[in-house]
Amino acid sequence: MFAPSEPLCDIFSISFCRVFVNRSLAMEKIKCFGFDMDYTLAVYKSPEYESLGFDLTVERLVHIGYPQELLNFVYDPAFPTRGLVFDTMHGNLLKVDAYGNILVCAHGFNFMRGPEIREMYPNKFIQRGDTERFYILNTLFNLPETYLFACLVDFFTHCSKYTRFLIKATLGSLKEKTLENLEKYVVKDGKLPLLLSRMNEVAKVFLATNSDYKYTEKIMTYLFDFPHGPKMGMPHRPWQSYFDLILVDARKPVFFGEGTVLRQVDTTTGRLKIGTYTGPLQHGIVYSGGSSDIVCDLLGAKGKDIVYIGDHIFGDILKSKKRQGWRTFLVIPELAQELHVWTDKSCELHTLIVDTDACLQHLDSSSNERPDISSLQRRIKKVTHDMDMCYGMMGSLFRSGSRQTLFASQVMRYADLYAASFINLLYYPFSYLFRAAHVLVSSENVLTRSISEIQPPNLFPQTPQEITHCHDEDDDEEEEEEE
Ligand SMILES: [Mg+2]
Repeated sequence: MFAPSEPLCDIFSISFCRVFVNRSLAMEKIKCFGFDMDYTLAVYKSPEYESLGFDLTVERLVHIGYPQELLNFVYDPAFPTRGLVFDTMHGNLLKVDAYGNILVCAHGFNFMRGPEIREMYPNKFIQRGDTERFYILNTLFNLPETYLFACLVDFFTHCSKYTRFLIKATLGSLKEKTLENLEKYVVKDGKLPLLLSRMNEVAKVFLATNSDYKYTEKIMTYLFDFPHGPKMGMPHRPWQSYFDLILVDARKPVFFGEGTVLRQVDTTTGRLKIGTYTGPLQHGIVYSGGSSDIVCDLLGAKGKDIVYIGDHIFGDILKSKKRQGWRTFLVIPELAQELHVWTDKSCELHTLIVDTDACLQHLDSSSNERPDISSLQRRIKKVTHDMDMCYGMMGSLFRSGSRQTLFASQVMRYADLYAASFINLLYYPFSYLFRAAHVLVSSENVLTRSISEIQPPNLFPQTPQEITHCHDEDDDEEEEEEE
């Protein structure tokens, strides 16, 4: 790793430390930096935290009458990817693109073949707007739930309707258990006080979290628990001193619309003071509820003056962008691993594609010759599949072969900036212009699809050994039947 003072030109070569740009953003125009807490300021350790969430939910299910055998399940971080859709009618986990086309379909631990998928979804397509039926698992909090859906469906092959109450029922104890062992579950980064103090020199900084005051206080105290302040040798400062405004119980996404009543938290008891808070912004006050409009009034800022930094594509990013025109910075912790796999593996794929192009280069519309590129195509298919499996059994968060996922399309549409961590902002000057690149055409292409049968084990999903993931548009029925 490099020191925080290292210049920009050096860090550009280290892609996981970069901030990526969808829409240009001039940092010098930003007057406020807003932060979400859970999975943004407070990064939970993976897979320890997800395992805890999974175990607590299973215990809860057994407690309310589910079979004891469920306790044998162990959370497998290689199975779930964020952004999957759970079909409550068929009990399937689906990876879809922006339009609802199905890219991967798993019933329990069984990755389904094309013809099987078509039996249930005739056009391999879902109307994902049907929120009664389709439940989108968009947040990192949903990862244990995603795996649990697969476990339960695999277990009860004839009883597949489960709903979102499962994980919610455990959130209380998940927070309690997290607080009991913060070192095990929460990442502490010495660069946090430094970045926030630098931000506070050029702009206002606020926290708007859905967590309650007691939990927020404990997590934030831990995150800033260093013997020093922003730098070595500087005195320690309480976490509150880094923020101009602290707001808990935000109730995002409602916060970005009508909001709730703004109240003041009594920081000695943790209780809410009676009545609506109507005074001016005061340092040291902790607010509860409110709305994004109230935050703008208190900070004296307009929507476009604010960059809001969060991890929730819907609650933090989509709503703040669509309803309030805030500038958005999405934290995608998976990006570090995604970039690692991409950097490591994409060279081989690129070479194969170049070789394929070379075989076809001398042809034009007068050619009768049909060069045999089938072995190259098979190798491309294999490399693509192997690459997908490096991300996890469901493949990449952003793509399936050359096709982009729903999550990727939402990132591009709603996140002005995105990175593996907001700490990456430490490596850019506050006068920086994040400039959006010209859109490039993807270089991975000419892939076709095949499907294989995966035999599910009893308690663990198995990495698909052959291709079960849809990579391109040209996957027709005949080809699948053939294979
Ligand atoms: Mg969050």
